[in-house]
Amino acid sequence: MHSLQALYGGTFDPIHYGHLKPVEILANQIGLQCVTIMPNNVPPHRPQPEATPAQRKQMLELAIADKPLFVLDERELRRNSPSYTAQTLEEWRREQGPEKPLAFIIGQDSLLNFPSWYQYETILDNSHLIVCRRPGYPLAMKEERHQLWLEQHLTYQSEDLHNQPAGKIYLAETPWFDISATLIRQRLQQGLPCDEMLPMPVLRYIQQQGLYQKSSN
Ligand code: ATP
Repeated sequence: MHSLQALYGGTFDPIHYGHLKPVEILANQIGLQCVTIMPNNVPPHRPQPEATPAQRKQMLELAIADKPLFVLDERELRRNSPSYTAQTLEEWRREQGPEKPLAFIIGQDSLLNFPSWYQYETILDNSHLIVCRRPGYPLAMKEERHQLWLEQHLTYQSEDLHNQPAGKIYLAETPWFDISATLIRQRLQQGLPCDEMLPMPVLRYIQQQGLYQKSSN
């Protein structure tokens, strides 16, 4: 019997409850035992994270210290060059073998952008896609062909995620959390409280390190 493994990628600049809570709830809903958090290396042409890779890693470690559901995978952070999700999932599939059910977790905003990701179609060859709700983003894809792609892969049965190695898209019924890293960086810069938005050890670390005090966008 293979258990479903899930990967959760992002910049995590910083990690916040909008990342952690939907995934913890999802794990309970669908019977997920382990989620691997994989912070990414940001391509040079994109706005760079304000925190260094070491600081982002430290914040993740503080955030998951009391949450056995999560483990950290530093492979993308350690690389000198950014990697595409499609390539990372191919590598992960090779490591786990062809039978193991694998899933990549994203938020609703990432689903809408998904067709612009490098070789996005191949991602479903190697894993399922689990989408968490996020307020403020439409539910349908912008282009009809992408909506068709979504519908072709959609499943409403979470058992499919456990019984098949890859290929399904599951729109999870997780609650909305109106939190983003951008909002947190802006609030910190303005000296506004963020206590409800991220774990206290992460917030303390941010303050100790003097992070997010200059203007960001
Ligand atoms: P930024 O504001 O800097 O763009 P972010 O808060 O969107 O950052 P990322 O690290 O870019 O965070 O996101 C990693 C993953 O987490 C993405 O798949 C994103 O869709 C998801 N995510 C982030 N915030 C939320 C949220 N509030 N609810 C659901 N999913 C979220």
